[in-house]
Amino acid sequence: MRIMVTGGAGFIGSHFLHNLLDGRYPDLPATEVVVVDKLTYAGDHRLFTGRVDPRIRFAEIDICDPTVDELMKGVDLVVHFAAESHVDRSIVDSAAFVRTNVLGTQNLLECALRNGVGKFVHVSTDEVYGSIAKGSWDEWCPLEPNSPYAASKAASDLLVRSYHRTHGLDVSVTRCSNNYGSRQYPEKLIPRFVTNLSQGRSVPLYGDGSNVREWLHVSDHCWGVALVAKGGRPGEVYNIGGGSELTNRELADILVEHTGADPSLVVRSEDRLGHDLRYSVDYSKMFDEFGYEPRVEISEGLRSTVEWYRENQDWWEGFGVR
Ligand code: NAD
Repeated sequence: MRIMVTGGAGFIGSHFLHNLLDGRYPDLPATEVVVVDKLTYAGDHRLFTGRVDPRIRFAEIDICDPTVDELMKGVDLVVHFAAESHVDRSIVDSAAFVRTNVLGTQNLLECALRNGVGKFVHVSTDEVYGSIAKGSWDEWCPLEPNSPYAASKAASDLLVRSYHRTHGLDVSVTRCSNNYGSRQYPEKLIPRFVTNLSQGRSVPLYGDGSNVREWLHVSDHCWGVALVAKGGRPGEVYNIGGGSELTNRELADILVEHTGADPSLVVRSEDRLGHDLRYSVDYSKMFDEFGYEPRVEISEGLRSTVEWYRENQDWWEGFGVR
């Protein structure tokens, strides 16, 4: 099976890639994996060039580039992770988000259609639904994105749907909750807190810390994506949840404890513009169709994640992010 993984040098894409090559998804036997990644600030080729595997073919190009068409020849499955992914950056400058997340996805869809790709999995986010005070979103909930990042992902989700309805392309969209785990670029909440707290530096807690996020271990997310890649019904959306809700304050307290930091290093800061109060997805469709349930328990997942950042200081220090 020839598989294209976009964003394979990023956090989630690299985990998916490693698991795929390690044979952890037996229903997706990869004979060749074409990794398409522009290596933006968030992409790191060390995440996969460290392993010698003749099945990897790496193309350092932009997903907006028309030459993706060449690479798509003979591809059976596209798993599309590449995106501009940081909400705070989208608030400051949204242009790159629209370009990569919307136009880049459109280019991939067009190439997939021209080359008769068998399956296209588009990795999206629960943030397309907006914010929910009580209960959880199922896949039928309206799209009410609040940040430019979420709006660009929602736009790409709709484009993906249109390629199915109009052209019959076999697409599935996944919408996951907040991921955590090793190798995440240190601007994101958990690695940012862990790397700073463990060095005795202060970290900002937006607003009063009462915003709730649902945490999903990256290995559970990638497993869910693999299940959808194999058995997702054409044109369907699948929520992939982690089931572990924490306020940002609760999460900060856990990370303080794991790093042994002084609690006063967590400093309240001005709230993020348009900050969503709570995210929560209903993943019963994934359970009903594939038996999916998150396997990594949050306390163990956070413990091993903190340990990884402590043991891999060389990796994250190289980025110079605080
Ligand atoms: P990331 O920022 O760590 O990695 C993104 C990767 O995409 C990087 O390797 C980068 O170089 C590449 N990329 C960016 N623009 C590109 C372009 N124009 N052409 C080619 N490559 C490009 O992101 P991530 O956290 O791994 O997220 C992967 C996907 O999962 C994204 O689509 C994101 O929207 C989605 N998602 C992430 C989370 C999360 O918690 N991290 C939650 C929900 C959904």
